[in-house]
Amino acid sequence: MRAYPTPQTISQAAAILQQGGLVAFPTETVYGLGANALDATAVAKIFEVKERPFFDPLIVHISDLRKLPLLARDIPLTARKLIDAFWPGPLTIVLQKTPLVPDIVTAGLDTVAIRMPAHPIARQILSKADIPIAAPSANRFGMLSPTCADHVESQLGEKVELIVDGGKCEVGIESTIIKIAGNSATLLRYGGIPLEDIEKVIKHIEIPTENNKIESPGQLPTHYAPRTPLMIIETPIAPNKEIAYLAFCNAPKGEFLAVEVLSPHADFREAAANLFSCLHRLDSCGARMIVAETVPEIGLGRAIMDRIKKAAKKNSC
Ligand code: AMP
Ligand code: MG
Repeated sequence: MRAYPTPQTISQAAAILQQGGLVAFPTETVYGLGANALDATAVAKIFEVKERPFFDPLIVHISDLRKLPLLARDIPLTARKLIDAFWPGPLTIVLQKTPLVPDIVTAGLDTVAIRMPAHPIARQILSKADIPIAAPSANRFGMLSPTCADHVESQLGEKVELIVDGGKCEVGIESTIIKIAGNSATLLRYGGIPLEDIEKVIKHIEIPTENNKIESPGQLPTHYAPRTPLMIIETPIAPNKEIAYLAFCNAPKGEFLAVEVLSPHADFREAAANLFSCLHRLDSCGARMIVAETVPEIGLGRAIMDRIKKAAKKNSC
């Protein structure tokens, strides 16, 4: 069932979660598919519905800092600084877990990924349910992330008891993930909070490179992929009516099967918010191939390029 977020819908969503069911709901990043994070059987349903491999751990969502000690222990000062600066918001922090967090949530790791979303509907559902909620993106595993209720419905449809329709996600790209261990901070995923902003709060962040990859389960090269092959282009290409075109700020010259412009104002926030919707549309227009322009890799541009590169990788591995 799909419903707008009335007070009754929020109560219904909370009741379903408390009873071990699944609810898809909007967050500022993308739509999440939520289950009670402390109930291993409920969490197992997420993996089943998404067809997600069990080695890919989930992010646990809370709306209240008082829930943090249930999930994490030995919280270092560095983590506290990040929490003060960026929660609620699109930053996930990986910390040492408590025994209360089931292994299925963390893929057997002794750490847990935690986020406090800023979206008012997500927050209302979390506080009404009054339990930590494990919630990956509400899509089939490896496919494009959902940034509106239509995307959720077309990928998961009847498999979810309730889809709460809160319109379009404002950030539109997944959270930044930072792992904190003692004094050290490591970037695990580029996302909705630009690295430059985080570096203003904590001085040194380790950034794994291709050659120096740290273990980051679930960060597969083929995430976020459209069904249509996608190729990144550095320079303009000749018009082609079989090709769909993803531009950063200016539409290309000549005729393509479909064209999407991420941000006519060359604004990274606008581009991030539009990215998955544009890719969903280009993916469904019947093109032989999607070509994507590069986006400057500064600020949110890094997270945008990370997703575009992952969409392109699918076809090269
Ligand atoms: P999502 O698919 O947006 O729900 O994000 C989940 C991702 O967070 C996983 O694919 C991992 O890369 C990362 N993650 C979650 N838990 C952990 C953890 N305990 N340690 C390291 N990375 C994690
Ligand atoms: Mg996902």
